[in-house]
Amino acid sequence: MSELLKGKHAVITGGGRGIGAAIAGALAGHGATLSLMGRDTNRLSEQAARLRVFTQVQAIAVDVTDPASVQRAFAEARASFATVHILVNNAGGAESAPFGKTDLNLWNKMLSVNLTGVYLCCHEVVPEMLAQVYGRIVNIASIAGLTGHPYTTAYCAAKHGVVGLTRALALETARKNVTVNAICPGYTETDMMKGAVQNIMAKTGHGERDARAALAQYNPLGRLIQPQEVANAVAWLCLPGSEAINGQAIQIA
Ligand code: NDP
Repeated sequence: MSELLKGKHAVITGGGRGIGAAIAGALAGHGATLSLMGRDTNRLSEQAARLRVFTQVQAIAVDVTDPASVQRAFAEARASFATVHILVNNAGGAESAPFGKTDLNLWNKMLSVNLTGVYLCCHEVVPEMLAQVYGRIVNIASIAGLTGHPYTTAYCAAKHGVVGLTRALALETARKNVTVNAICPGYTETDMMKGAVQNIMAKTGHGERDARAALAQYNPLGRLIQPQEVANAVAWLCLPGSEAINGQAIQIA
């Protein structure tokens, strides 16, 4: 436990499970006040209740693909905890398909949840961050935002977009003590990865162990990443001492 982020209001999208839940725990451990956002309000409320022993936490319903919902959610966040100091754009989704089967519906779905959602949430907080001359934005991209992977054109395009948005926005905000960085995890043990494992098992007939080993081999470390390892990097970017790190896409893989 530390109080290094005491007095800072952090919004974490998709904060109810997986990587987002680990990030929420890490920021709570440094005393930040939290607004956890997502669609599954039961799960968010449970996570908020768990973290209230450390800090003030509220759970807020949002669909990051819906501009009106994002606007409402940030208004609710500010109504209780005032301006936002830290935004972690973690909400996302991954669906794979060969390019021939990547129809416009799948394409739009991947872009809206993984890229437009990041844009909408940034749009909510950047003006107030510039005005208060303090802000930390961390976008959870992916190694699929840095290199190509087969059967995931839409997801890869969206995550490359997140990295591009990060680099460009970082240059606009740099002189106002507002940093914008991306974290690019490799395969990480969450529900999303379970989906990928099930996919491999269905398509190859391999068992779960082999499917997990195959995914681990995609990561340069040769093993799966733990959500806590991603969360540690996010917390580091938000802590005092990281104010000169800006516009970076940091691989955790
Ligand atoms: P999970 O599937 O476990 O969690 C996804 C999270 O996103 C949930 O909290 C979900 O909340 C939220 N979410 C999804 N759609 C929406 C939406 N429309 N509006 C609001 N919230 C939404 O995945 P991970 O924890 O693994 O993924 C977190 C991030 O990390 C994603 O951006 C993902 O792309 C990225 N990532 C994951 C990797 C992995 O291997 N796991 C590797 C690289 C990057 P709810 O259900 O409450 O809406």
